[in-house]
Amino acid sequence: MNEYLQLVRLHQARKRFGQNFLIDYPLIIKLFQSIHAQPDDRMIEIGPGLGALTRPILANIKALTVIELDRDLIPILSSLDNLTIIHQDVLTVDFHALKIDDRKLRIVGNLPYNISTPIIFHLLASASVIKDMHFMLQKEVIDRMAATPDDSEYGRLSVMVQRYCQVIPLLTIPPTAFNPAPKVMSQFVRLIPYETDPYGIESDETFFEVVKCAFSMKRKTLRNTLKPLFTQEELELCGIDSSLRAEKLSIIEFATLANQLFAKRQS
Ligand code: SAM
Repeated sequence: MNEYLQLVRLHQARKRFGQNFLIDYPLIIKLFQSIHAQPDDRMIEIGPGLGALTRPILANIKALTVIELDRDLIPILSSLDNLTIIHQDVLTVDFHALKIDDRKLRIVGNLPYNISTPIIFHLLASASVIKDMHFMLQKEVIDRMAATPDDSEYGRLSVMVQRYCQVIPLLTIPPTAFNPAPKVMSQFVRLIPYETDPYGIESDETFFEVVKCAFSMKRKTLRNTLKPLFTQEELELCGIDSSLRAEKLSIIEFATLANQLFAKRQS
């Protein structure tokens, strides 16, 4: 650990790469334990940085693949055994191609907060090849991901993430656990993609279209936002109260609307 802290001291953290390195060793171990790594897992770490989580993971599994963009970190990571390094922007990585055998991927990472939402959206497109994901994120982002229609944080992010995954918030983490310390509270989260779609959605494309349209205008009712896609009568036939805002609709209700629109376009 002392050697690791020395690395953190020597490395100039880059803001543009969202670098906040974990420095609280007991916490690092707790995070590692909550992942429940098994020796044969097909584990992928996003943004290993100086290896805070990488080292305990490597000590417990046979092989690990990491994706890191900062070229200055590559020589440090190269000194670790049984590690495959992908020196690339994670947003350009094809996760389907990383599934090389019958094992689904386990993804882990203390994500760069500046691009955490695009990373999650990128991964959701590969949810079918992912077993689970463990991420450190801004607590506020996890509150939005886990929110239900009764919560003020509920919105497009909640719908999009919960359409694919069960969201399980884990430890809340203060800024002092990192160097440099971020200005916000952080949280660890477990996302488990559904094996079978619990919502019976016919077309993802149509579902995204309806969700995007519903949330396109803040404080407007569904009668107004969904006008390009549904008449008021059609909304009523789907059992939707058109005087509500998108923030009040459950994922099942979005699925009903999307399937109705899909059927209308097929006929
Ligand atoms: N895992 C380390 C830790 O917990 O101490 C570092 C976490 S730091 C919050 C985010 C890491 O993601 C950094 O190593 C950063 O260089 C890397 N990163 C930033 N943008 C990236 C991108 N687009 N693709 C891959 N890695 C990226």
